[in-house]
Amino acid sequence: MATMRAAQISRAKGAFELVERPIPAPGPGTVRIKVEACGICHSDSIVKEGLMPGLQYPRIPGHEVAGQIDAVGPGVTQWTAGQRVGVGWHGGYCGHCDACLRGNFFACRTGQVTGLTFDGGYAEYMIAPESAVALLAAELPVADSAPLLCAGITTFNALRNSGAQAGDLVAILGIGGLGHLGVQYAAKMGFRTVAIARGKDKEPLAKQLGASAYIDSSAQDPAAALQQLGGARVILATVTNGEAMSTVQGGLGINGTLLIIGAVPSLSISSMQLLFGRQSVKGWYSGTSIDSQDTLAFSALTGVRSMNETFPLDRVTEAYDRMMSGKARFRVVLTMGK
Ligand SMILES: [Zn+2]
Ligand SMILES: [Zn+2]
Repeated sequence: MATMRAAQISRAKGAFELVERPIPAPGPGTVRIKVEACGICHSDSIVKEGLMPGLQYPRIPGHEVAGQIDAVGPGVTQWTAGQRVGVGWHGGYCGHCDACLRGNFFACRTGQVTGLTFDGGYAEYMIAPESAVALLAAELPVADSAPLLCAGITTFNALRNSGAQAGDLVAILGIGGLGHLGVQYAAKMGFRTVAIARGKDKEPLAKQLGASAYIDSSAQDPAAALQQLGGARVILATVTNGEAMSTVQGGLGINGTLLIIGAVPSLSISSMQLLFGRQSVKGWYSGTSIDSQDTLAFSALTGVRSMNETFPLDRVTEAYDRMMSGKARFRVVLTMGK
């Protein structure tokens, strides 16, 4: 039986194990993807550390997968071998539950999560439900496409659904794996883009990525600074620090939205500010496969790219630690080689 290399986790808090496994066969309604690149996302720590009840091990993580369809299962009519495709966090939907029937495919009752509820892309091959698969943009190399399938879609889709219009003041809180993409998308969407981060060192990069202003939150009150600029229509909170989010709330303008895509255990919000400014606090789910296609097509069209550090699959432990250290600039991508 033909085998593939894969990096798996066998138990919560276990180490990555490089193993040879049989190449899986695609069942009904699924496709097999020959993985060429897979981004490492902070959410992969859910598998590594066992942060979700009911996770089944061994599990191969990875939900920023880019490659090529290599075989299709019975009943699949929409995909064929040879197509360049990717898979993100959203692992498909059923099409007939209440959530799906109302068009909320992202919230499908039986929806799966790539690399969590089924094996993901830290491997030479993976199986994906057909509804989870997105077409890659022809102009984008796989290593550039992979991180856009989670970090990219999350920031792009949140911003395009934020209610902000061209010319509106949009602030991106945090210049990291998500934020460095958020600044680019906001600028390319025609927003007056303000980047907020701690310290001066990220200012030149933020400006280079398209920010028209930069606020150093360690040197000045970011809420006051945003108010001086007129108040933000949207603040996209990409950080994983609840206090930093609370601190910027006061920078929202009238009808402004604090749009949260970073997970924090708890968050304190001033209800008075919400009431008097008719403001809102909202979260955003990354998106489904068609949102991934839109993200990739927009990125190809406008030149938005993530900055990546790439590692071969064999160095998965080092690559994962690099991502977790917070020092990577800015996404870490595994490549499968030939
Ligand atoms: Zn992710
Ligand atoms: Zn459903």
